[in-house]
Amino acid sequence: MDLRLSGKVVLVTAASKGLGKATAWQFAREGAKVVICARSELINQAAQEIASETHAEVLGLRADVTQQADIERVINATVEKFGGLDILVTNAGGPPAGTFADTDLGMWEAAVNLMLLSAVRLIKCALPYLKQSANPAILTITSNSTKQPVQNLVLSNSIRLGVIGLTKTLSQELGSDRIRVNSILPGWTYTQRVDELINARMAKTGQTKAAEIAQINANIPLGRMGTPEEFANVAVFLCSPAASFVNGVMLQVDGGLHSGTF
Ligand code: NAD
Repeated sequence: MDLRLSGKVVLVTAASKGLGKATAWQFAREGAKVVICARSELINQAAQEIASETHAEVLGLRADVTQQADIERVINATVEKFGGLDILVTNAGGPPAGTFADTDLGMWEAAVNLMLLSAVRLIKCALPYLKQSANPAILTITSNSTKQPVQNLVLSNSIRLGVIGLTKTLSQELGSDRIRVNSILPGWTYTQRVDELINARMAKTGQTKAAEIAQINANIPLGRMGTPEEFANVAVFLCSPAASFVNGVMLQVDGGLHSGTF
């Protein structure tokens, strides 16, 4: 199937590694022009890796999605280099692990800024350009924790529901501008973030890494965690003109982990 992404301009935030990087890479393989950002120097290396494998045009920028000025700079640089913006993928790092008892008010405020307000700011800055695109789309990356709370992750379990509410609302409000707005709810997908979460669980339970992984896998009907590439394939399809009538969908990519009917 032709995803019709050739020449489209795509911004994927928080993309120096993990799900964001894999998604940007897959867009580049499909012929899109890609902008990626993250806080660390690793972003330049990620941009080089993607460009040298795919021969796509890739712009890597250091930026913190919790900072309004950084977001404005990224959107302006995107439009300056590529002349517009067709697809926005809002991603951010995950919040610290912990239970309600472990988590103070400052941590709650920081997590709202990281997960919810970053998406609000990005979408507000990107909207004027998305409205000018022939095939505009927004994808928010949230979590399977919005369907089923994950143990020891109170911040993700709570605040990502705000991003779901935002995504659903925008899928209604922006339809008249032809902008499709969807979310992917990843389940366990092996990235550095997951490695850190497993380390946090080990510190609490005293179990080995192998035992923690086996316990997670046992709850996934497919019997394993996903790979970032499996996530990216779905993300790229959902944002592509090939999915032109898909709007307001909260799509689980979790190996069947969430077993509820809705
Ligand atoms: P990761 O830790 O592997 O990568 C996170 C990326 O975000 C990195 O590139 C990092 O530099 C960047 N980043 C972090 N804070 C940033 C900031 N303030 N500004 C800009 N960039 C920033 O994480 P991942 O596994 O790829 O997960 C991506 C998102 O999906 C996270 O929010 C995570 O919680 C969520 N998620 C992941 C899984 C999973 O199994 N991997 C499951 C559910 C939800």
